[in-house]
Amino acid sequence: MAVGEPGSNLTRCSYRAWLSRWVDTKDCLASTKAKLVILGAGFAGLRVLYRLHDTFGVTLIDPRSDSLAKPTLPELALSGKPVAHARFPLAPIARRTQAQLTQASATSIDPVAQRIQLDSHEAISYDFLVIAVGAVKDYSAIEGLEEFGYSVCDDDHATRRWDALSAFKGGPIVVGAALSTWGTKVAAPDLKAPCEGPIGEGIFMAGYELRSRRIAHTISAFTPGDVFFDDVGDNVHASIAPLLGATGVEVLTAKSVRRVAKGSVMFTDGTELESELTVVIPPYRDPKMIVDSGLGDEVGFVPVNEQMQAFDYSNIFVAGDVSALAMPKLGHIAVHQADVAVACLLRMVGDTVEIPPYRPEVICVMNRGGSEAILLLSDIIYGGERDIAKSGPLVHFMKWSFDAWGYHTHGHLPPDLLQEALEKFLSFIRRPRLGQWNRIGAEQWGTIRQGPGIEVYRSRA
Ligand SMILES: Cc1cc2nc3c(=O)[nH]c(=O)nc-3n(C[C@H](O)[C@H](O)[C@H](O)COP(=O)(O)OP(=O)(O)OC[C@H]3O[C@@H](n4cnc5c(N)ncnc54)[C@H](O)[C@@H]3O)c2cc1C
Repeated sequence: MAVGEPGSNLTRCSYRAWLSRWVDTKDCLASTKAKLVILGAGFAGLRVLYRLHDTFGVTLIDPRSDSLAKPTLPELALSGKPVAHARFPLAPIARRTQAQLTQASATSIDPVAQRIQLDSHEAISYDFLVIAVGAVKDYSAIEGLEEFGYSVCDDDHATRRWDALSAFKGGPIVVGAALSTWGTKVAAPDLKAPCEGPIGEGIFMAGYELRSRRIAHTISAFTPGDVFFDDVGDNVHASIAPLLGATGVEVLTAKSVRRVAKGSVMFTDGTELESELTVVIPPYRDPKMIVDSGLGDEVGFVPVNEQMQAFDYSNIFVAGDVSALAMPKLGHIAVHQADVAVACLLRMVGDTVEIPPYRPEVICVMNRGGSEAILLLSDIIYGGERDIAKSGPLVHFMKWSFDAWGYHTHGHLPPDLLQEALEKFLSFIRRPRLGQWNRIGAEQWGTIRQGPGIEVYRSRA
């Protein structure tokens, strides 16, 4: 009977267990299933685990004892949410899914021998491998960032930033993303900053927090891109602009940060900004393990086909930020890629499931402080026509529900009920009529921008 054929393992194992009471059905099941190793327990890795633990004998490898929900980090950094809300312990997840959990870092992969070397000196073999180790945020690439600046990309930096914001006495704030560079092996959008949502939240939420504490401040935002939020189209830009304008932020485009010092930020074009609180999303870099394994492109991210298979190795799948195809680097895209990989893996063990086409879209939800949030939905950079922004308390409620669901279910994705609710909500805002409404909003903004005292938003190259 073919591996993965419905019921095959169960029937064989139950029979053996009946014959000899020495055999434990669960162990037998694990030993007869194809062996799937998942590297990384983030968005993509957990999605694969939850969808495939019944079919494969899964080993989950991650150096952390918990999974970090990065979209929650801005709330830690900007409204003081407890760090526990962004961490899901992995042990209970492994128990529930009967996965073997190994707390270690993979240091190299031998794709020919189908073996992974771990930093614990253990070596693990696999039939199938899913690489979902995310991207490295290279704090050391920007001189002075660790010493004089702040960030938001992990739990330590997010909590440090909240301490800094709590102690902030006023003055200029500078926030922005550093320049990242990419390889050329796959047809993915070439974005200079792969995830600017946390910068948007840094503007909206820091402004809200400081206004409510009546602390005088100015905020300047910089982007290495030619426009802020390079990954969406004109319609979304026009919808965000008045909201940014209302915060008084000054946006500087095509700025690549070179150095952070006490009281200032320096850019590669020789300009400098005064800053009492500097926040930078560092460049995204490939994990060393990928380069050492010879699986990366020119800069180390893994090129894949549209089934998420690594070039040359049909039993290695790659999903999420580490994939060269994932652009921008977003949880929504990581989960979509994981879904494509899951379907392919099921097909490889005999299932007849349809493989969904790879259709990325940018979905980004930014909290704006209080009970307001804005959702951006766009596929313009992939040649699509959707380019919608929706703002208001309902969007905030959706984000809050997802975070709460993730927290209380230990990152169980998909939260089917919530997933359906989101799909309904998205299909509602995807409707052409609403797109039109947004365009009208954009035109109105043209007039609002000229109103007295409101022309605070400007873009300066
Ligand atoms: C501050 C911030 C806010 C964000 N907000 C949003 C948002 O609102 N919406 C959105 O869609 N996206 C958002 N993103 C992007 C999103 O978080 C990422 O795209 C997503 O986490 C990528 O998922 P992943 O599974 O590829 O990697 P990750 O979630 O980064 O997980 C990678 C896992 O691999 C593990 N790992 C690393 N190296 C190894 C190794 N050598 N061996 C084994 N395991 C390893 C890590 O410990 C980690 O657990 C945000 C990102 C940041 C930084």
